Amino acid sequence: MLETLKEALFIENGRCPICKRVLFFTKDHICIDCVKKLERPSGREAAEMFPGDPSKRRHGVYLYKGNIKEITHLMKFDNRPGLCSFMGKLVGRELALLERQDELEELDLIIPVPLHLNGIKERGYNQSELMAMEIKSELSKKNLALRSKVAIDVLVKTRDTPHQRDLKKSERLVNVKDAFEIKNPEMIRGRKVLLVDDICTTGATVHACREAILKEGASSVVVVVMAVVEI
Ligand SMILES: [Zn+2]
Repeated sequence: MLETLKEALFIENGRCPICKRVLFFTKDHICIDCVKKLERPSGREAAEMFPGDPSKRRHGVYLYKGNIKEITHLMKFDNRPGLCSFMGKLVGRELALLERQDELEELDLIIPVPLHLNGIKERGYNQSELMAMEIKSELSKKNLALRSKVAIDVLVKTRDTPHQRDLKKSERLVNVKDAFEIKNPEMIRGRKVLLVDDICTTGATVHACREAILKEGASSVVVVVMAVVEI
């Protein structure tokens, strides 16, 4: 009841969470000015994480700096599914502008980095999954990735791992090693995959997911993350 009322009154996205300006007549969850101010990666962060092999490319849309930190926090800990979808929309739009559109045209599967069941119970949703849905929708609008589908039942997190942010760099790789598994290998074999995550710090999580997907015979895995930490 309260949720319906909140939605009807647009309380959830009534104000920009960054500058607190009221968001009139818009479905946006952050005001245009604050979106414009989000910092973009340049230099090493903008380059691919796995240079040389285009099938292992990684794209980071924003730099994990300034307001994106607050946005990420709200997405994870403030019950803001609408904000997650909105950020997915922004990421999808940016992705559609990329030069290497051949990678996107031929995509078969869009796979969000999964949460462990405990994480879903705690949060009520997977932010990367909500983002993946919007990414698919934005790419379709540009006639990209038309035959792709968002697959949420393929890659699963089988081990509940401590939060990566609480660990040292060296501990992070070990923490997520073998934490992800492919449930339906027949869906992966020979497929071109886009892997979606919210933040990339050391790359340990996307690396573990990528390895699990490639192990089952996917032909390529391109990674897109909303925010990438400065190297
Ligand atoms: Zn604002």
